[in-house]
Amino acid sequence: MFLSVKELELRKIGFDKIFEPGQIEFTGEGLEQGSPLHAIGSAELLPESGGQLRVWGSYTVVMGAQCDRCLVRARFPLEADFDLYYRPASDVPEADEVKIDAGEAEIGFYEDGLELEDILREQVLLVLPMQRVCSESCKGICPGCGKNRNETACDCKPEVSDRWSALRNLEL
Ligand SMILES: [Zn+2]
Ligand SMILES: [Zn+2]
Repeated sequence: MFLSVKELELRKIGFDKIFEPGQIEFTGEGLEQGSPLHAIGSAELLPESGGQLRVWGSYTVVMGAQCDRCLVRARFPLEADFDLYYRPASDVPEADEVKIDAGEAEIGFYEDGLELEDILREQVLLVLPMQRVCSESCKGICPGCGKNRNETACDCKPEVSDRWSALRNLEL
C-alpha cells in the first residue's frame, strides 16, 4: 500500500490492512511470517511543518525464526505500536552539514510517499528480540554430543566442569 504525498496533501489516510505471508519480504533475515500481519493506523501530512509526514498505528503478527540456542524453529508473537516521522528527501542535509543529535537520528525521509510494507518490515525487524530463544528455559544444544537437550537428556558432563578440567590440563 503506497501512502502518496499527493493524496496526503488532500486528506489524512487511514489503513486497516491484512498482509498475508509473502506480501512483505522477510527472507534473507532468517525469518518467516507465521501469520497474517494486521496493521491499523493513519498517515498524515503535518500542517505547517515544512512537509513533515507522520505515520502511526499498531500491528500484530507471529514471526518464525530459529532458536539461537537449540536451532528449532520458534514462534515469536509480536504486538507493537509505532509513531514515525518523515521529512521530504529535499531536506536531507549535505554530507558536510550532517550533525545528528539524539532526537534527529530517528527521522526518515520520503520522496513521493512511503510504502507501508517497507515501514512494517522495518518495524518488525526492530521489535524482534536480538536473542531469539524458543523459551527462556531452553537448554540448547549439547556442545559434547550435539543433541537437543530439551528433547533428550544426555550423559555428557556439564560445560562448567569441562571448562575446569580444561584449565587443570593447562596447569599440568
Ligand atoms: Zn530453543
Ligand atoms: Zn551431550
